[in-house]
Amino acid sequence: MKFNTKAIHAGQEPEKTSGAVMPPVFQTSTYAQKAPNEHQGYDYARVGNPTRTALEKLIAGLEEADECACFSSGVAAIDAILKTLKPGDHVISTNDLYGGTYRLFTQVFEPYGIRFSFVDMTDMAEVEKVFTESTKLVWIETPTNPLLRIIDIKKAAQMSNERGALSVVDNTFASPYLQQPLLLGADAVMHSTTKYLGGHSDVIGGAVASSDKNFMENIHFQVKTTGAVPGPMDCYLVLRGIKTLHLRVQRSVENAKKVAEYLSEYPEVGTVYYPGLDNHPQHELAAAQMNDFGAMVSFSMKDDTMEKAFDVMKKTKIFTLAESLGGVESLISHPASMTHGSIPKDVREKAGLKDSLIRLSMGVEDIQDLIDDLEQALQ
Ligand SMILES: *Cc1c(COP(=O)(O)O)cnc(C)c1O
Repeated sequence: MKFNTKAIHAGQEPEKTSGAVMPPVFQTSTYAQKAPNEHQGYDYARVGNPTRTALEKLIAGLEEADECACFSSGVAAIDAILKTLKPGDHVISTNDLYGGTYRLFTQVFEPYGIRFSFVDMTDMAEVEKVFTESTKLVWIETPTNPLLRIIDIKKAAQMSNERGALSVVDNTFASPYLQQPLLLGADAVMHSTTKYLGGHSDVIGGAVASSDKNFMENIHFQVKTTGAVPGPMDCYLVLRGIKTLHLRVQRSVENAKKVAEYLSEYPEVGTVYYPGLDNHPQHELAAAQMNDFGAMVSFSMKDDTMEKAFDVMKKTKIFTLAESLGGVESLISHPASMTHGSIPKDVREKAGLKDSLIRLSMGVEDIQDLIDDLEQALQ
């Protein structure tokens, strides 16, 4: 099956008792048993729910994974992965990381004795330098947020593999339509389903997918034991969103390319960060490991101040000023104070994230309206 067919059919079957083509929202906390422990695969809804199962099978199909587990949010999925580690274990990650992930790593797991190194993962020599005997996890986020740098998944996964560490890719920014990390050798994939998978900015959710049996057993144990599970209605919304993933992302990417070109030619715009531009430092790598270049575009003005950036953000009318990404509507945001506000200023600036950076999440509106909106805001 090709991706576009899988987005609609992977793991999906009509419901058994009624033939309902779309999975019902199984709004129940428990399930009747014929005799103690004799049931139809579901005993209690923290452990499992058929609507959730339908979503897990669909995401597993899209990521070419044997299994998937869904969570109440993206950070809950990351939390579960980190809980497979032990005090003293070491994690390597990028210095250009989603702010919420950085906060979880440094403020929750560091005090519990997990150790972290944040390096420029676009340079594999930097990654190699910080590997130790106790490195158990390599956390890859690519394209990075918000600077849209590209990390070589194949190389990072191979290096982790050779040294006995697990490689996990946060695939939220690309979505499985544009990038399938397991096919590049990664051990597991994580998603904030809040973004492209849900696609309509109406639900919070997370997912972990992998074909590593032991790892997934541990993840399912975390689901059951720590309980950060998504409700059936939320699972239904993400399921429904995924069925148009390929159509939405395709249009968003088309819009992103046109906006990146438009901004590159605008005299008062300083730097444009978009992997699809020839001058992007990892343009070739992006072309090799992704099916297309994504729908996120970041830029700064030549007047490289926070005031100027705020000025632009306040003026857009179609681009809504808001956190998040991956929905049908276009958003504009200020990473330094919004998504990355939880990263200290000196750490942010060391990673190249300036207070003047503006980030766009391209939606599926008409491109001319979007460009006109930017035009009037930039003037
Ligand atoms: C949003 C996001 C997360 C966290 O997901 P939530 O659903 O908001 O908890 C993690 N990683 C990336 C790249 C994200 O964009």
